[in-house]
Amino acid sequence: MSVVTRFAPSPTGYLHVGGARTALYSWLFAKSQGGKFVLRIEDTDLERSTDQAKQAILDGMSWLGLEHDEGPFYQTERFDKYNQYIDQLLEKGLAYRCYMKSEELDAIREEQERKGEKPRYPGTWRERTDYPEDAPYAIRFKNPLSGKVVFKDHVRGEISISNEELDDLVIRRSDGAPTYNFCVVIDDWEMGITHVVRGEDHINNTPRQINILKALDAPIPEYAHVSMILGDDGKKLSKRHGAVSVMQYRDDGYLPQAVLNYLVRLGWSHGDQEVFIVDEMIELFSLDNISKSASAFNTEKLVWLNQHYIKSLPAKEVAEHAKWHFDDQGIDVSNGPALEDVIAVQSERVETLKELAQISRYFYEDYDEFDANAAKKHLRPVAKANLIAVKDALLGLSDWSSRSIQEAINSTAESLGVGMGKVGMPLRVAVTGSGNSPSLDVTLVLLTKAQVEQRINKAIEFIENRENS
Ligand code: GLU
Repeated sequence: MSVVTRFAPSPTGYLHVGGARTALYSWLFAKSQGGKFVLRIEDTDLERSTDQAKQAILDGMSWLGLEHDEGPFYQTERFDKYNQYIDQLLEKGLAYRCYMKSEELDAIREEQERKGEKPRYPGTWRERTDYPEDAPYAIRFKNPLSGKVVFKDHVRGEISISNEELDDLVIRRSDGAPTYNFCVVIDDWEMGITHVVRGEDHINNTPRQINILKALDAPIPEYAHVSMILGDDGKKLSKRHGAVSVMQYRDDGYLPQAVLNYLVRLGWSHGDQEVFIVDEMIELFSLDNISKSASAFNTEKLVWLNQHYIKSLPAKEVAEHAKWHFDDQGIDVSNGPALEDVIAVQSERVETLKELAQISRYFYEDYDEFDANAAKKHLRPVAKANLIAVKDALLGLSDWSSRSIQEAINSTAESLGVGMGKVGMPLRVAVTGSGNSPSLDVTLVLLTKAQVEQRINKAIEFIENRENS
Protein backbone atom coordinates (compact mmCIF):
# COMPACT_ATOMS: atom_id res chain seq x y z
CA MET A 1 0.00 0.00 0.00
CA SER A 2 1.35 3.39 -0.82
CA VAL A 3 0.88 5.88 1.97
CA VAL A 4 -0.98 9.16 1.43
CA THR A 5 -1.38 11.62 4.29
CA ARG A 6 -2.82 15.08 4.44
CA PHE A 7 -2.87 18.29 6.39
CA ALA A 8 -6.29 19.87 6.33
CA PRO A 9 -6.32 23.23 8.10
CA SER A 10 -9.34 25.51 8.30
CA PRO A 11 -8.19 28.95 7.16
CA THR A 12 -9.57 30.92 10.06
CA GLY A 13 -6.24 32.24 11.36
CA TYR A 14 -2.51 31.91 10.91
CA LEU A 15 -0.66 28.60 10.98
CA HIS A 16 -0.08 28.10 14.68
CA VAL A 17 2.34 25.86 16.50
CA GLY A 18 -0.19 23.07 17.08
CA GLY A 19 -1.21 23.01 13.43
CA ALA A 20 2.39 23.09 12.31
CA ARG A 21 3.24 20.12 14.48
CA THR A 22 0.29 18.13 13.09
CA ALA A 23 1.40 19.07 9.58
CA LEU A 24 4.95 18.01 10.37
CA TYR A 25 3.93 14.61 11.72
CA SER A 26 1.69 13.99 8.76
CA TRP A 27 4.41 15.10 6.33
CA LEU A 28 7.08 13.05 8.09
CA PHE A 29 5.01 9.94 8.04
CA ALA A 30 4.39 10.28 4.30
CA LYS A 31 8.07 10.91 3.64
CA SER A 32 9.20 8.10 5.90
CA GLN A 33 7.03 5.68 3.93
CA GLY A 34 7.94 7.01 0.52
CA GLY A 35 4.35 8.22 0.26
CA LYS A 36 2.57 11.43 -0.69
CA PHE A 37 1.50 14.43 1.33
CA VAL A 38 -1.64 16.35 0.40
CA LEU A 39 -2.52 19.88 1.46
CA ARG A 40 -6.22 20.57 1.70
CA ILE A 41 -7.69 23.88 2.77
CA GLU A 42 -10.98 23.32 4.58
CA ASP A 43 -12.64 26.61 3.82
CA THR A 44 -16.27 25.54 4.05
CA ASP A 45 -16.97 27.94 6.90
CA LEU A 46 -17.43 30.94 4.67
CA GLU A 47 -17.86 33.39 7.51
CA ARG A 48 -14.66 32.52 9.29
CA SER A 49 -12.36 31.64 6.37
CA THR A 50 -10.27 34.46 4.94
CA ASP A 51 -7.91 34.77 2.00
CA GLN A 52 -5.34 36.21 4.35
CA ALA A 53 -5.47 33.09 6.51
CA LYS A 54 -5.17 30.85 3.44
CA GLN A 55 -2.06 32.74 2.43
CA ALA A 56 -0.68 32.61 5.99
CA ILE A 57 -1.02 28.82 5.95
CA LEU A 58 0.70 28.50 2.59
CA ASP A 59 3.48 30.84 3.73
CA GLY A 60 3.98 28.97 7.00
CA MET A 61 4.13 25.59 5.29
CA SER A 62 6.54 26.83 2.71
CA TRP A 63 8.78 28.54 5.27
CA LEU A 64 8.95 25.30 7.23
CA GLY A 65 9.74 23.42 4.03
CA LEU A 66 6.72 21.14 4.37
CA GLU A 67 6.08 20.98 0.66
CA HIS A 68 2.96 19.16 -0.50
CA ASP A 69 2.93 16.61 -3.31
CA GLU A 70 -0.68 17.34 -4.19
CA GLY A 71 -2.89 20.35 -3.69
CA PRO A 72 -3.60 22.75 -2.27
CA PHE A 73 -7.21 21.66 -2.69
CA TYR A 74 -9.96 24.00 -1.58
CA GLN A 75 -13.19 22.51 -0.33
CA THR A 76 -15.27 25.45 -1.55
CA GLU A 77 -14.31 24.44 -5.10
CA ARG A 78 -15.65 20.95 -4.55
CA PHE A 79 -19.24 21.53 -3.37
CA ASP A 80 -20.75 19.90 -6.48
CA LYS A 81 -18.85 16.74 -5.77
CA TYR A 82 -20.00 16.55 -2.14
CA ASN A 83 -23.56 17.15 -3.24
CA GLN A 84 -23.39 14.34 -5.79
CA TYR A 85 -22.45 11.92 -3.05
CA ILE A 86 -25.20 13.23 -0.81
CA ASP A 87 -27.69 12.63 -3.62
CA GLN A 88 -26.38 9.08 -3.97
CA LEU A 89 -26.90 8.43 -0.28
CA LEU A 90 -30.42 9.83 -0.55
CA GLU A 91 -31.19 7.53 -3.47
CA LYS A 92 -29.94 4.53 -1.58
CA GLY A 93 -32.00 5.42 1.46
CA LEU A 94 -28.86 6.02 3.54
CA ALA A 95 -29.70 9.66 4.11
CA TYR A 96 -32.98 11.51 4.47
CA ARG A 97 -34.65 14.88 4.47
CA CYS A 98 -35.18 16.49 7.83
CA TYR A 99 -37.72 19.29 8.07
CA MET A 100 -37.24 19.99 11.72
CA LYS A 101 -37.01 23.71 12.41
CA SER A 102 -34.17 24.95 14.53
CA GLU A 103 -36.54 26.21 17.27
CA GLU A 104 -38.01 22.74 17.49
CA LEU A 105 -34.58 21.16 17.74
CA ASP A 106 -33.52 23.69 20.39
CA ALA A 107 -36.57 22.84 22.49
CA ILE A 108 -35.77 19.12 22.27
CA ARG A 109 -32.18 19.77 23.29
CA GLU A 110 -33.20 21.91 26.24
CA GLU A 111 -35.53 19.22 27.42
CA GLN A 112 -32.79 16.58 27.09
CA GLU A 113 -30.36 18.72 29.01
CA ARG A 114 -32.93 19.35 31.70
CA LYS A 115 -33.23 15.59 32.13
CA GLY A 116 -29.44 15.28 32.24
CA GLU A 117 -29.33 13.47 28.90
CA LYS A 118 -26.80 14.01 26.13
CA PRO A 119 -28.41 16.30 23.54
CA ARG A 120 -29.11 14.40 20.34
CA TYR A 121 -31.42 14.53 17.37
CA PRO A 122 -34.11 11.92 18.03
CA GLY A 123 -34.45 10.66 14.45
CA THR A 124 -37.83 12.35 13.96
CA TRP A 125 -37.66 12.47 10.16
CA ARG A 126 -35.68 9.27 9.64
CA GLU A 127 -38.59 7.27 8.29
CA ARG A 128 -41.09 10.01 7.43
CA THR A 129 -42.13 10.82 3.89
CA ASP A 130 -44.92 13.32 4.55
CA TYR A 131 -42.80 16.19 3.32
CA PRO A 132 -44.32 19.65 3.73
CA GLU A 133 -44.46 21.60 0.49
CA ASP A 134 -41.93 24.38 -0.15
CA ALA A 135 -40.40 24.10 3.29
CA PRO A 136 -36.63 24.14 3.71
CA TYR A 137 -34.99 20.90 4.77
CA ALA A 138 -31.58 19.61 5.73
CA ILE A 139 -30.20 16.21 4.79
CA ARG A 140 -29.19 13.88 7.59
CA PHE A 141 -27.09 10.76 7.42
CA LYS A 142 -28.76 7.57 8.67
CA ASN A 143 -26.33 6.52 11.32
CA PRO A 144 -26.62 2.81 12.17
CA LEU A 145 -28.89 2.35 15.18
CA SER A 146 -27.01 -0.49 16.80
CA GLY A 147 -23.55 -1.99 16.94
CA LYS A 148 -20.39 -0.06 17.54
CA VAL A 149 -17.58 1.66 15.71
CA VAL A 150 -14.15 0.33 16.59
CA PHE A 151 -10.91 1.73 15.31
CA LYS A 152 -7.28 1.45 16.27
CA ASP A 153 -5.75 4.82 16.82
CA HIS A 154 -1.97 4.91 16.42
CA VAL A 155 -1.62 7.18 19.43
CA ARG A 156 -4.47 6.14 21.67
CA GLY A 157 -4.89 2.46 20.91
CA GLU A 158 -8.26 0.86 20.32
CA ILE A 159 -11.27 3.17 20.54
CA SER A 160 -14.79 1.85 20.58
CA ILE A 161 -17.98 3.92 20.42
CA SER A 162 -21.48 2.54 20.49
CA ASN A 163 -23.72 3.72 17.66
CA GLU A 164 -26.36 4.49 20.23
CA GLU A 165 -24.21 7.42 21.26
CA LEU A 166 -24.27 8.92 17.79
CA ASP A 167 -27.21 10.71 16.25
CA ASP A 168 -28.02 11.36 12.61
CA LEU A 169 -25.63 14.00 11.45
CA VAL A 170 -26.69 16.85 9.17
CA ILE A 171 -24.65 16.39 6.00
CA ARG A 172 -26.27 19.16 3.96
CA ARG A 173 -27.70 22.26 5.54
CA SER A 174 -31.01 23.70 4.43
CA ASP A 175 -29.11 26.39 2.49
CA GLY A 176 -27.65 23.61 0.32
CA ALA A 177 -24.14 23.66 1.79
CA PRO A 178 -22.58 20.29 2.63
CA THR A 179 -21.28 20.15 6.17
CA TYR A 180 -17.78 19.88 7.46
CA ASN A 181 -17.70 16.20 8.51
CA PHE A 182 -19.12 15.10 5.20
CA CYS A 183 -16.61 17.07 3.14
CA VAL A 184 -13.75 15.57 5.14
CA VAL A 185 -15.01 12.06 4.46
CA ILE A 186 -15.38 12.58 0.72
CA ASP A 187 -12.02 14.26 0.44
CA ASP A 188 -10.15 11.67 2.47
CA TRP A 189 -11.67 9.03 0.25
CA GLU A 190 -11.21 10.75 -3.11
CA MET A 191 -7.71 11.88 -2.28
CA GLY A 192 -6.77 8.33 -1.37
CA ILE A 193 -5.76 9.23 2.19
CA THR A 194 -4.46 6.13 3.94
CA HIS A 195 -3.48 7.76 7.26
CA VAL A 196 -5.29 10.62 8.94
CA VAL A 197 -3.02 12.47 11.37
CA ARG A 198 -4.86 15.24 13.17
CA GLY A 199 -5.49 16.93 16.49
CA GLU A 200 -7.25 15.05 19.27
CA ASP A 201 -10.01 17.66 19.18
CA HIS A 202 -11.30 15.73 16.15
CA ILE A 203 -11.48 12.36 17.83
CA ASN A 204 -15.23 12.61 18.36
CA ASN A 205 -15.74 13.12 14.64
CA THR A 206 -13.93 9.93 13.73
CA PRO A 207 -16.68 7.35 14.47
CA ARG A 208 -19.18 9.49 12.55
CA GLN A 209 -16.82 9.79 9.63
CA ILE A 210 -16.14 6.05 9.67
CA ASN A 211 -19.88 5.33 9.50
CA ILE A 212 -20.27 7.57 6.48
CA LEU A 213 -17.26 5.98 4.78
CA LYS A 214 -18.80 2.56 5.38
CA ALA A 215 -22.12 3.68 3.91
CA LEU A 216 -20.25 4.81 0.82
CA ASP A 217 -18.34 1.52 0.62
CA ALA A 218 -15.12 3.49 0.91
CA PRO A 219 -11.97 2.15 2.57
CA ILE A 220 -11.36 3.30 6.14
CA PRO A 221 -8.03 5.09 6.66
CA GLU A 222 -5.88 4.58 9.73
CA TYR A 223 -5.96 7.33 12.34
CA ALA A 224 -3.51 9.05 14.65
CA HIS A 225 -4.94 11.71 16.95
CA VAL A 226 -2.22 13.91 18.34
CA SER A 227 -2.52 15.42 21.80
CA MET A 228 -2.60 19.10 22.71
CA ILE A 229 0.27 21.47 23.26
CA LEU A 230 0.30 23.38 26.52
CA GLY A 231 2.09 26.62 27.31
CA ASP A 232 5.05 26.86 29.75
CA ASP A 233 2.43 27.46 32.45
CA GLY A 234 0.57 24.19 31.80
CA LYS A 235 -2.44 25.96 30.24
CA LYS A 236 -3.68 25.32 26.70
CA LEU A 237 -1.35 27.10 24.29
CA SER A 238 -2.83 30.38 23.16
CA LYS A 239 -1.92 33.87 22.04
CA ARG A 240 -1.13 34.72 25.63
CA HIS A 241 2.00 32.63 25.29
CA GLY A 242 3.48 34.98 22.74
CA ALA A 243 4.73 33.63 19.49
CA VAL A 244 2.17 31.06 18.50
CA SER A 245 2.09 31.82 14.79
CA VAL A 246 4.77 29.96 12.89
CA MET A 247 5.70 33.08 10.93
CA GLN A 248 6.30 34.89 14.20
CA TYR A 249 9.22 32.52 14.71
CA ARG A 250 10.64 33.56 11.40
CA ASP A 251 10.25 37.20 12.41
CA ASP A 252 11.92 36.52 15.75
CA GLY A 253 14.95 35.01 14.07
CA TYR A 254 14.47 31.26 14.26
CA LEU A 255 15.63 28.85 11.60
CA PRO A 256 12.92 26.58 10.21
CA GLN A 257 15.19 23.63 10.98
CA ALA A 258 15.21 24.62 14.67
CA VAL A 259 11.44 25.01 14.74
CA LEU A 260 10.95 21.64 13.03
CA ASN A 261 13.33 19.96 15.44
CA TYR A 262 11.56 21.61 18.32
CA LEU A 263 8.13 20.59 17.05
CA VAL A 264 9.06 17.00 16.31
CA ARG A 265 10.17 16.51 19.90
CA LEU A 266 7.01 18.10 21.22
CA GLY A 267 5.13 14.84 21.46
CA TRP A 268 7.38 12.36 19.68
CA SER A 269 10.59 10.73 20.80
CA HIS A 270 13.35 8.45 19.71
CA GLY A 271 15.15 7.35 22.84
CA ASP A 272 16.53 10.44 24.53
CA GLN A 273 17.85 12.04 21.36
CA GLU A 274 17.09 15.77 21.12
CA VAL A 275 18.73 16.92 17.91
CA PHE A 276 17.34 15.72 14.59
CA ILE A 277 18.01 17.20 11.20
CA VAL A 278 15.11 16.76 8.82
CA ASP A 279 16.55 13.73 7.03
CA GLU A 280 17.01 11.98 10.32
CA MET A 281 13.45 12.77 11.39
CA ILE A 282 12.23 11.21 8.16
CA GLU A 283 14.33 8.14 8.76
CA LEU A 284 13.27 7.63 12.35
CA PHE A 285 9.70 8.89 12.51
CA SER A 286 6.87 6.52 13.29
CA LEU A 287 3.27 7.17 14.30
CA ASP A 288 3.51 4.64 17.09
CA ASN A 289 6.09 6.70 18.99
CA ILE A 290 3.83 9.73 19.31
CA SER A 291 3.10 10.47 22.93
CA LYS A 292 -0.40 10.24 24.32
CA SER A 293 0.04 12.94 26.92
CA ALA A 294 -0.08 16.66 26.29
CA SER A 295 3.27 18.35 25.70
CA ALA A 296 4.37 21.60 27.25
CA PHE A 297 5.98 24.33 25.24
CA ASN A 298 9.47 25.27 26.35
CA THR A 299 10.89 28.40 24.80
CA GLU A 300 14.35 27.87 26.27
CA LYS A 301 14.72 24.62 24.44
CA LEU A 302 13.70 26.22 21.17
CA VAL A 303 16.32 28.93 21.69
CA TRP A 304 18.92 26.31 22.43
CA LEU A 305 18.12 24.42 19.26
CA ASN A 306 18.18 27.61 17.24
CA GLN A 307 21.60 28.47 18.54
CA HIS A 308 22.74 24.96 17.83
CA TYR A 309 21.63 25.10 14.20
CA ILE A 310 22.98 28.59 13.58
CA LYS A 311 26.35 27.24 14.67
CA SER A 312 26.24 23.88 13.01
CA LEU A 313 24.36 24.17 9.73
CA PRO A 314 26.41 25.12 6.67
CA ALA A 315 26.79 28.92 6.66
CA LYS A 316 25.30 29.02 3.19
CA GLU A 317 22.07 27.49 4.44
CA VAL A 318 21.92 29.83 7.43
CA ALA A 319 22.56 32.74 5.07
CA GLU A 320 19.48 31.91 3.02
CA HIS A 321 17.33 32.51 6.08
CA ALA A 322 19.42 35.30 7.58
CA LYS A 323 19.06 37.42 4.45
CA TRP A 324 15.43 38.15 5.35
CA HIS A 325 16.55 39.75 8.63
CA PHE A 326 19.22 41.91 7.04
CA ASP A 327 16.61 43.12 4.57
CA ASP A 328 14.13 43.61 7.37
CA GLN A 329 16.61 45.74 9.29
CA GLY A 330 17.45 47.74 6.19
CA ILE A 331 20.99 46.37 5.84
CA ASP A 332 22.00 46.12 2.21
CA VAL A 333 24.19 43.05 1.95
CA SER A 334 24.81 43.39 -1.77
CA ASN A 335 27.66 45.74 -1.02
CA GLY A 336 30.12 44.04 1.28
CA PRO A 337 31.30 40.62 2.33
CA ALA A 338 29.36 37.48 1.40
CA LEU A 339 26.72 36.86 4.02
CA GLU A 340 27.93 33.35 4.60
CA ASP A 341 31.41 34.64 5.44
CA VAL A 342 29.92 36.99 8.02
CA ILE A 343 27.86 34.11 9.42
CA ALA A 344 30.95 31.94 9.68
CA VAL A 345 32.54 34.45 12.06
CA GLN A 346 29.40 35.52 13.96
CA SER A 347 27.50 32.26 14.39
CA GLU A 348 28.93 31.49 17.82
CA ARG A 349 27.85 34.85 19.14
CA VAL A 350 24.07 34.80 18.65
CA GLU A 351 20.92 32.95 19.58
CA THR A 352 18.76 34.22 16.73
CA LEU A 353 19.12 35.44 13.16
CA LYS A 354 17.58 38.73 14.18
CA GLU A 355 20.45 39.27 16.59
CA LEU A 356 22.88 38.11 13.93
CA ALA A 357 21.76 40.93 11.64
CA GLN A 358 21.81 43.42 14.52
CA ILE A 359 25.43 42.70 15.41
CA SER A 360 26.64 42.48 11.81
CA ARG A 361 25.60 45.87 10.50
CA TYR A 362 29.17 47.21 10.62
CA PHE A 363 30.21 44.78 7.88
CA TYR A 364 27.91 46.55 5.46
CA GLU A 365 27.74 50.14 6.56
CA ASP A 366 29.65 52.63 8.66
CA TYR A 367 28.30 52.89 12.15
CA ASP A 368 27.01 56.29 13.21
CA GLU A 369 28.50 56.46 16.65
CA PHE A 370 30.89 54.51 18.81
CA ASP A 371 29.39 52.55 21.63
CA ALA A 372 29.77 55.07 24.46
CA ASN A 373 31.27 52.73 27.03
CA ALA A 374 33.68 51.13 24.62
CA ALA A 375 34.83 54.52 23.35
CA LYS A 376 35.25 55.88 26.84
CA LYS A 377 37.38 52.95 27.80
CA HIS A 378 39.41 52.32 24.67
CA LEU A 379 39.52 55.49 22.59
CA ARG A 380 41.60 57.47 25.07
CA PRO A 381 44.46 59.79 24.21
CA VAL A 382 47.01 57.04 25.01
CA ALA A 383 45.50 54.90 22.27
CA LYS A 384 46.07 57.43 19.52
CA ALA A 385 49.68 56.51 18.81
CA ASN A 386 48.81 52.82 18.83
CA LEU A 387 46.05 53.38 16.32
CA ILE A 388 48.31 55.39 14.06
CA ALA A 389 50.96 52.67 14.21
CA VAL A 390 48.60 49.82 13.53
CA LYS A 391 46.98 51.74 10.70
CA ASP A 392 50.38 52.19 9.05
CA ALA A 393 51.18 48.52 9.50
CA LEU A 394 47.86 47.46 8.01
CA LEU A 395 48.04 49.87 5.09
CA GLY A 396 51.50 48.55 4.32
CA LEU A 397 50.22 45.02 3.80
CA SER A 398 50.41 43.78 0.27
CA ASP A 399 48.34 40.75 1.06
CA TRP A 400 44.97 41.42 2.81
CA SER A 401 44.54 38.07 4.54
CA SER A 402 43.59 37.22 8.10
CA ARG A 403 47.05 35.84 8.65
CA SER A 404 48.93 38.96 7.55
CA ILE A 405 46.43 41.17 9.40
CA GLN A 406 47.15 39.26 12.60
CA GLU A 407 50.88 39.57 12.00
CA ALA A 408 50.59 43.32 11.47
CA ILE A 409 48.70 43.71 14.77
CA ASN A 410 51.20 41.52 16.63
CA SER A 411 54.25 43.28 15.28
CA THR A 412 52.75 46.72 16.03
CA ALA A 413 52.22 45.76 19.67
CA GLU A 414 55.70 44.33 19.81
CA SER A 415 57.43 47.36 18.35
CA LEU A 416 55.44 49.69 20.62
CA GLY A 417 56.33 47.48 23.56
CA VAL A 418 52.70 47.27 24.71
CA GLY A 419 50.34 44.34 25.32
CA MET A 420 48.14 43.13 22.47
CA GLY A 421 45.03 44.55 24.10
CA LYS A 422 46.38 48.07 23.94
CA VAL A 423 46.44 47.86 20.18
CA GLY A 424 43.64 45.38 19.62
CA MET A 425 40.89 47.00 21.68
CA PRO A 426 41.16 50.51 20.22
CA LEU A 427 41.35 48.91 16.77
CA ARG A 428 38.26 46.84 17.47
CA VAL A 429 36.27 49.87 18.62
CA ALA A 430 37.56 51.86 15.66
CA VAL A 431 36.55 49.27 13.10
CA THR A 432 33.34 47.84 14.55
CA GLY A 433 32.13 50.74 16.68
CA SER A 434 31.93 48.54 19.76
CA GLY A 435 34.03 46.44 22.08
CA ASN A 436 32.46 43.19 20.92
CA SER A 437 33.40 41.40 17.75
CA PRO A 438 34.93 38.19 16.55
CA SER A 439 38.70 38.16 16.54
CA LEU A 440 40.22 41.03 14.63
CA ASP A 441 41.96 39.10 11.89
CA VAL A 442 38.75 37.44 10.68
CA THR A 443 36.74 40.63 11.15
CA LEU A 444 39.06 42.99 9.31
CA VAL A 445 39.60 40.66 6.41
CA LEU A 446 35.89 40.90 5.61
CA LEU A 447 36.21 44.67 5.21
CA THR A 448 38.31 46.44 2.61
CA LYS A 449 41.60 48.06 3.46
CA ALA A 450 40.08 51.43 2.56
CA GLN A 451 37.16 50.90 4.98
CA VAL A 452 39.57 49.96 7.75
CA GLU A 453 41.68 53.04 7.08
CA GLN A 454 38.71 55.34 7.06
CA ARG A 455 37.31 53.93 10.32
CA ILE A 456 40.65 54.16 12.10
CA ASN A 457 40.84 57.78 10.98
CA LYS A 458 37.41 58.37 12.42
CA ALA A 459 38.57 56.95 15.77
CA ILE A 460 41.69 59.10 15.76
CA GLU A 461 39.54 62.12 15.07
CA PHE A 462 37.28 61.14 17.93
CA ILE A 463 40.28 60.98 20.27
CA GLU A 464 41.54 64.33 19.05
CA ASN A 465 38.17 65.95 19.66
CA ARG A 466 38.20 64.45 23.07
CA GLU A 467 41.65 65.84 23.78
CA ASN A 468 40.51 69.30 22.75
CA SER A 469 37.28 69.38 24.68
N1 GLU B 1 -9.97 21.39 9.32
C1 GLU B 1 -9.71 20.81 10.60
C2 GLU B 1 -8.99 21.79 11.50
O1 GLU B 1 -8.37 22.72 11.00
C3 GLU B 1 -8.92 19.53 10.52
C4 GLU B 1 -9.74 18.41 10.06
C5 GLU B 1 -9.06 17.11 9.91
O2 GLU B 1 -7.82 17.05 9.98
O3 GLU B 1 -9.75 16.13 9.68
O4 GLU B 1 -9.04 21.66 12.68
